[in-house]
Amino acid sequence: MTRFVSGRTSATNAEAFERALAVSPGGVNSPVRAFGSVGGTPRFLASGRGPYVTDIEGTQYVDLVGQWGPALLGHAHPDVIAAAHAAVDHGLGFGAVSTGEVDLAELVLDRLTLTAPDGTERRGIEKLRLTSTGTEATMTAIRLARGATGRPLLVKFAGHYHGHSDSLLSEAGSGIATLGIPGSAGITPETAAQTIVIPYNDEAALAEVFARHGDRIAAVITEAAAANMGVVPPKPGFNRLLADTAHAHGALLISDEVMTGFRATAAGWWGLEEREGAPYDADLTTFGKIIGGGLPLAGLGGRAEVLDLLAPLGPVYQAGTLSGNPVAVATGAAMLAGAGPAVYERLMIAARKIADGLSAALAAEGVVHTVAWAGSQFSIFFRETAPQNYAEAQDQESWRYPAFFHGMLDHGVSLPPSVYEAWFVSAAHDDAAIARVLDAARPAARAAAS
Ligand code: PLP
Repeated sequence: MTRFVSGRTSATNAEAFERALAVSPGGVNSPVRAFGSVGGTPRFLASGRGPYVTDIEGTQYVDLVGQWGPALLGHAHPDVIAAAHAAVDHGLGFGAVSTGEVDLAELVLDRLTLTAPDGTERRGIEKLRLTSTGTEATMTAIRLARGATGRPLLVKFAGHYHGHSDSLLSEAGSGIATLGIPGSAGITPETAAQTIVIPYNDEAALAEVFARHGDRIAAVITEAAAANMGVVPPKPGFNRLLADTAHAHGALLISDEVMTGFRATAAGWWGLEEREGAPYDADLTTFGKIIGGGLPLAGLGGRAEVLDLLAPLGPVYQAGTLSGNPVAVATGAAMLAGAGPAVYERLMIAARKIADGLSAALAAEGVVHTVAWAGSQFSIFFRETAPQNYAEAQDQESWRYPAFFHGMLDHGVSLPPSVYEAWFVSAAHDDAAIARVLDAARPAARAAAS
C-alpha cells in the first residue's frame, strides 16, 4: 500500500488511476502512459531493478519500456544510483556553474570523437549546451538554425517525433501517432506554415522541397534513425543525402539523437556512418535520455561556430533554471562511463534473442508481422515488410497490438503501450529475463492471432 502526503492511499492500480484521473488530465503527465490505444488500467510503478519493474500491487514485470530509453544499463544500476546519492549529498542544485557539467560535456565530446583507420580524428561535436528535456534541445536547435541562417522554414519528416514544441508537432510520431491525430490544437497557422513535412526516405520529395524553397529553408531535422513510428531506419545513404542537400542550399542538418544517441547510432557503436558509405556531418545534434542517466537532462551539440551563436556569446537566446543540474549530470556521467562495448554487445544479443523468440511465436500462430531494426533498437509491425515511411508504418494490422500487449502484460512483461513505439532492451536483460519474455510470447501471440 502506498501512502501519500494527502493521507489517501492506493492499494491497487485501479484505485491509483481513479485518484489520478481526478487530479490530472487523463490521469497522466505524458499521454501514452494512459494506455489509451491498448485499453485497460495503467500500472503504477513503485520500483525498478535491472530488467524488472514492480507495480504498487507487488506484481513484477520484465520491462521493455526502459524509461523510454534512458535505462540502458537496466533500472537502478548501482553505479548510477551511487552517483546520484553522492551528488545529492552536496545539494540539489545551485543555478550556478558546477564542474559536473564540464565533466559530462567532456565525456560526451570524447565519446563522439572518432578515430579513422588512418589515424585522423573526427569530432562529432565541438561544443554542448545542456537542457533539461529533449523537447528543449530540439526547440533550441531550430532557433539556432534560424538564427544562423536568417531563414524561416524547417523541413521535417512525417512520423518523426522531436518533442512537443510548436514547430515540431505536425504529423509527428510517438503520442501524436498513437492518438491518430495530425498535430496539436493551439498551434497558430502561421507557426505550422513554417514547417514543411515530407515523407521519410523519399529522395524525390527532398529534392523537390529544396528546389521550391531552398533559399528559405533554415534546417532539415531528422531522427538519426526514426523510432517514434515504430523503428524505421534510414535507407543506406539517406542521412548523408540530407546533409549534402541541406549544405548545398546553405541550410543546416539537425540530427535528433535524443532516442538513438548512445544506444543505436555511432555513439552507441552502431556504425551508422558505415551504413551511410561515408561520414556525414550534422551541423547540430540533439541528445537526451541516456545522457541524463534517467534524470531530466538533454542537450544539443555541434560545431563551435554554430553553438557559439547561443547566449551569452551570441544573439540566440536559450536558458534554463535547472539546466546542467548537478544530480542529473552526475547520473548521466555514471551512465556513460558504464556504457562500454560490452554493454552494447549484450544489448544486441538480448534484443536479438527477444525479437527472434517473439517473431517465432507470432509466426507459429500465423500472425503476419515483421521486426524492424536500428542497431539494438527494434519494434514489431503487423505487416509483411518493414516500412520505409509513416504511411507504410500506419498500414499494418495495428488492431492486433492491444491483445498482444495485454497478453504479454498478463504474463509479466511490460511493453510500450502503443504499436508506434520502439522497444527498449537493457544490458541487464539476462537469460532469465529473456526466458520470461519468451514464455509470455506464446499466449500473447495466440491472443494477437484471434
Ligand atoms: N526527440 C526524439 C527523437 C525523441 O524520441 C523524444 C522523446 O521521446 C524527444 C525528442 C523529446 O524528448 P523529451 O521527451 O525529453 O522532451
